[in-house]
Amino acid sequence: MHTFDADTERLLQQAIDYARLRLRLDPVPLDGAKPPAVIREAAGQTITPEGLGGDEALRLFTEVLAPACLSVDNPRYLSFIPAAPTEAATLFDLVVGASSIYGGSWLEGAGAVYAENQALRWIADLAGLPPEAGGCFVQGGTNGNLSSLVAARHTAMARREGDRPARWAFVCSIEAHSSMQHAARVMDVDIVTVPVDDHGRMTGDALRAAVADHGADDLFAIVATGGTTNYGVVDDIRGAVEVGREHNLWVHVDGAYGLAALCAPSARDIFDGIEGVDSLIVDPHKWLFAPFDACALIYRDPALAKAAHTQTAGYLEAINEDSEWNPSDYAVHLSRRPRGLPLWFSLATHGTQAYTDAVEQTLAVARSAADGVRKREYLELVREPNLSVVVFRRLGWKREDYYAWSDRMLAANFAFVLPTTHYGETVTRFAVVNPRTTEADVALILDTMAG
Ligand SMILES: *Cc1c(COP(=O)(O)O)cnc(C)c1O
Repeated sequence: MHTFDADTERLLQQAIDYARLRLRLDPVPLDGAKPPAVIREAAGQTITPEGLGGDEALRLFTEVLAPACLSVDNPRYLSFIPAAPTEAATLFDLVVGASSIYGGSWLEGAGAVYAENQALRWIADLAGLPPEAGGCFVQGGTNGNLSSLVAARHTAMARREGDRPARWAFVCSIEAHSSMQHAARVMDVDIVTVPVDDHGRMTGDALRAAVADHGADDLFAIVATGGTTNYGVVDDIRGAVEVGREHNLWVHVDGAYGLAALCAPSARDIFDGIEGVDSLIVDPHKWLFAPFDACALIYRDPALAKAAHTQTAGYLEAINEDSEWNPSDYAVHLSRRPRGLPLWFSLATHGTQAYTDAVEQTLAVARSAADGVRKREYLELVREPNLSVVVFRRLGWKREDYYAWSDRMLAANFAFVLPTTHYGETVTRFAVVNPRTTEADVALILDTMAG
């Protein structure tokens, strides 16, 4: 198992061949989930005492398991938040996989940590954060939000010298991501929710009123969303920062999806005030063209996060003593893959201007989709899009019509567009993050809703 022999050499060739084929497919088929019985019938029992051998295991993956997974990078996959890793980022994921790098500490992974920090610096500079800002890459936005909130609560507790309220709470809009509720459950804290305006936005005034109404005594953070998942709407970040200052509260921006657009001049103004936040996240696996799974988590004052997150033990002493930068000190994790490296490699390869161009390209396609909705008398926008999510209704359709239409398109390997809900009403939505998605793709899909 641990010798590089002739079998390994053959398997290496097959694995590289698979990667080459998968990367060259244009477009990659949508594929899709199958019922458990169908997969069981085709794959059978895969774990046996003697092993299947690499050839057979890889054949099972290639012919049975991989086609039972949706291809999120298909240009007509427009549901949830898709992904569209660059070729360079995907290739480098293979390299990272072959490198056995421990990315938790400077002692063990200095070179990788240096490169990851350069990628984080690019994002921090786009946001206008100070030179001392920093953080780490975590598995996803859910962990990034949780880790920020834990740092925020720890900071509030330190400020109060340990005098804690009966229950802690943080503030976010009613349209904040489901990971907020999850974080609240994990941390056993409450959420104070703020209503949104007609555009789906949490305004500074609504936030100020909600904080005044609740009282700030048990609060430790305000979370503004930098692009809601369902609509791509960006909260009033400047307003959130102001209310945060008024009450000495940590301000976090959940930009898992939307903050990628910081690099797009046509969208940059929407994030006005972002330079004043205490922490932010953005998922490179969403709109920054990296493979799963990576969330960039950045703190204005990393020392506050370090105080909350550093693990100490005899076996960690060597790591904690005079360290340059230990990524494990800044989130709920210890051992970690240097998952920021695919983004770093792609940025280093192509330069930041290519990212600006690619994000602008997706924004242009989303704007063309919104125009396409306005032009067709059977369609109607639910909200004016802020970023690259377009939510719209087909006049006269009920829930079943949306689902039947969506199923038909997937069965025909034509597109993957799911319904969503808007205050109880079934509608549908495009999330455009793939620069391979064209204006013609979205127009063709809109045409299928006629008649
Ligand atoms: C996707 C998303 C998350 C969660 O990110 P994961 O990487 O899926 O954990 C959090 N917040 C927002 C706004 C998101 O769009």
